[in-house]
Amino acid sequence: MAESDGLVSLRDRRFAAIQTVFRRSNERLSRQLGFALGSALYVCECGDDSCSDLISLNQVEYEHVRSDSTWFLIASGHEILAGDSERILETHEHHQVVAKSGAAGAIADALDTRRVRAVARDG
Ligand SMILES: [Zn+2]
Repeated sequence: MAESDGLVSLRDRRFAAIQTVFRRSNERLSRQLGFALGSALYVCECGDDSCSDLISLNQVEYEHVRSDSTWFLIASGHEILAGDSERILETHEHHQVVAKSGAAGAIADALDTRRVRAVARDG
């Protein structure tokens, strides 16, 4: 029992780590755009490292997803990967916002570049 829990947890943590890599890519794009009006194409953060789906969001929509370090932006229908460590928070026409929990959520939080920058800024 403990072993299978460990395997599930390992898989969930792996997905969370991959998702934070895609989030970093989106964060780079967002910083380059600044607060430009209009929409940009962000990469799906579903955790499938072969997924290359793009999601069109405006800056307000993107900032909303980034308002919590355990939330991720995924294309509609891509929520199946992470199992119990992830739940759908919001469903929009072309994308969903999912929240990580447990060990996966802790990884997502620890690897949030905005959080790291805020700590560096605020001491
Ligand atoms: Zn995807």
